[in-house]
Amino acid sequence: MAADRLRVAVCGGGVTGLTAAFRLLNAGADVELFEGSQRLGGSVLTLRRDGFIFDGGPDAFVAAKPQVKELAIELGLTDELVETQRESRGIYFLKAGELHRLPEGVVLAVPTKFWPLLSSPLFSLPGVARMGLDLLLPKKVSDSDDESISSFLKRRLGQESVELFGEPLLAGIYSGDPSQLSLKATFPQLVGLEKAHGSLVKGALAARAKAPKGPAPSVFLSFRRGMATLVEALETSIQNKGGRVHLGAAVKGVEREGAGFHLLSNGTRSERFDHVVVATPARAAAELFEPFDAEVARHLRRIPHVSTAACHLAFKRDQVPHPLDASGILFMRSEGRDASAITFMSTKWAGRAPEGTALFRVFFGGYAHPEVRTMSDSDLLVAARKELRDVLRIESTPLAEEVFRWNDCRPQPVRGHLARLEEVQRRLSALGGLSLCGGPYDGVGLPDCVRQANSVVAKLLSGG
Ligand SMILES: Cc1cc2nc3c(=O)[nH]c(=O)nc-3n(C[C@H](O)[C@H](O)[C@H](O)COP(=O)(O)OP(=O)(O)OC[C@H]3O[C@@H](n4cnc5c(N)ncnc54)[C@H](O)[C@@H]3O)c2cc1C
Repeated sequence: MAADRLRVAVCGGGVTGLTAAFRLLNAGADVELFEGSQRLGGSVLTLRRDGFIFDGGPDAFVAAKPQVKELAIELGLTDELVETQRESRGIYFLKAGELHRLPEGVVLAVPTKFWPLLSSPLFSLPGVARMGLDLLLPKKVSDSDDESISSFLKRRLGQESVELFGEPLLAGIYSGDPSQLSLKATFPQLVGLEKAHGSLVKGALAARAKAPKGPAPSVFLSFRRGMATLVEALETSIQNKGGRVHLGAAVKGVEREGAGFHLLSNGTRSERFDHVVVATPARAAAELFEPFDAEVARHLRRIPHVSTAACHLAFKRDQVPHPLDASGILFMRSEGRDASAITFMSTKWAGRAPEGTALFRVFFGGYAHPEVRTMSDSDLLVAARKELRDVLRIESTPLAEEVFRWNDCRPQPVRGHLARLEEVQRRLSALGGLSLCGGPYDGVGLPDCVRQANSVVAKLLSGG
């Protein structure tokens, strides 16, 4: 090993840490990755069994943000990338116990066509009229305050849009409370629409006019054999390039020695590193930064997290009366049901379930259902079967069932999150040699995680 080769430790083997390690190795650094659990991937977890592919965490990433696709191409995974199936392009809402398809023309909670809304039982006439007022309302003058999703939607589109779009559609992605989540931190594109066009509807129409003609491309992408494909390819590449991966190696402390660092893991003190990239969940990161800056640790501990669980159930297709002609169902909170959403996995993606079967994912938990933490797997499966029976009239016994639990795993970018993050990053820059990136910080989506890893590595390599 050349004496001047940069030595970097990466803490956390989720997609963020793996991407950082991959990029550092590509740049010629000497890299060791420390992962606390016995497997890589963190929130990305795919089980392949009996012809089923169960994505326990994310099943997709947003196509409009290029970072995951670019990474996949670099890793030689171009042929593994898949779009959602055409027949899944649409979503149902459960309202007053009935399923209603969301009318066409709604783009990220913004209606671009009003006539289809008027003929849908999901909307009232005064509700649609109030949404139309967005075209006339002045834009907000100051963008200094950190508005919640609910407050923004209510101001621009009215209360009906908060109930329908705010909770199940937008905040649902975070399993969070729309009255607490920061719009700037979660959907900055909506802030941008108001700023640039003075109206969400006008902005969405302008974006549509600019979009290439022809059928709309898939909003989401995934991998043919599940999201873990990305993790597996990163792991292989890291190992081929000489990176060392330590599993079952939770980092318990970081010690500074001169301009370098040592990690404490499994009761031993590591060799010296020039730089440490922390890509762990916020609580673990807080422990590591505590001795360096207690204020950073305090900020990180104050990022709220909620728990969720995803139950996957498969049935014979001919035992499912519904046409399954959408990506799934979002439950309005006013329905008072245990679950928050059902995804039609085998409609959404090709090849996730054997021919003649249908695979569903039923989501539980989130801010409104903290009890999910204490429910047993069998309680969850009973609840999932009940949801499928009540909502989709599926009475038969499942062919396969899997439960994935995500306790305290969903970070909540609440109001004040971006200011908190800015302060954390400012303080870390002043410390030198320590970087922070990952889902709880600057964007939870996989493309955001990859972007953060890319930029942390670019900054580190440029000596920043
Ligand atoms: C149920 C669910 C569904 C999701 N759906 C989507 C989706 O559809 N699309 C999308 O884009 N995103 C989705 N996300 C979000 C996305 O999966 C995550 O934001 C992303 O995977 C986070 O990656 P990460 O590497 O930053 O963190 P993590 O995946 O949390 O990885 C952190 C790693 O650090 C390890 N660790 C913890 N403490 C230590 C320590 N002290 N030392 C060493 N290692 C440690 C952990 O074991 C873990 O492996 C979903 C998340 C969940 C949970």
